[in-house]
Amino acid sequence: MRNQIEVLDMLQTIDMELSELEEHISEYPKRISAYEEELEAYGEKLESLNSEKQELLKNKSSMELELTQNEETIKKSEEKLFEIKTHKEYEALQKEISETKRMNSELEDKLLEEMEKIENIESQISATNEELTGKKTDYEEKISGFKEKLEEVETLYGPKKEEKEKIVSKISPDILPIYEKIKKRNGEVLALAKNEVCTGCNMNIPPQLFNEVLTLSRIIQCPNCTKILYCEEELNSEAKTG
Ligand SMILES: [Zn+2]
Repeated sequence: MRNQIEVLDMLQTIDMELSELEEHISEYPKRISAYEEELEAYGEKLESLNSEKQELLKNKSSMELELTQNEETIKKSEEKLFEIKTHKEYEALQKEISETKRMNSELEDKLLEEMEKIENIESQISATNEELTGKKTDYEEKISGFKEKLEEVETLYGPKKEEKEKIVSKISPDILPIYEKIKKRNGEVLALAKNEVCTGCNMNIPPQLFNEVLTLSRIIQCPNCTKILYCEEELNSEAKTG
């Protein structure tokens, strides 16, 4: 049984290494996309602020155009005033002029509001740009760091998996299902039996059973935690007292 315990110990070690690699393989892409998404969010925010700014600029120039056109109308109408013969026509035209002037003064107020909005959006754009510049280098470094790490663990994974297959082939087919079952339940499969105590769960091992562990006659599981028990002399070189 000594040989089997040693192989089980190797299997347990490599299983732990594999599950750590698997954890990284699933974790790193998530970290990468979290940083990428945040950078993308800045891009989207800037895009929407810029298109809002474009819209405001368009409004502004159409207001300016309307203002100029109204001023021309006023100028022409004021020239026309001199040619008018009747009092009624004169009054009507003057009313029209003062109406256009009133509209223009309203337009000027709106134009000022529009310009304030543009200033506001421009300061939002530059603040967002500044924030993005502050984070971009840092995030890009983190992203490429995680990409490198991911490549590294992916490169390790295949050979490690092959190594595991070689170890598995050395385990008796009746022991492997026991190992898998305990691993699924406990994570850790092996437990050192010392002074009639299972160090996996700290419960006493019946003396009869403990003797069997010592004689290495068969695979013995702890009656309490079901871990496979081994004694110290079974794993000497790579002492594992877990
Ligand atoms: Zn136990």
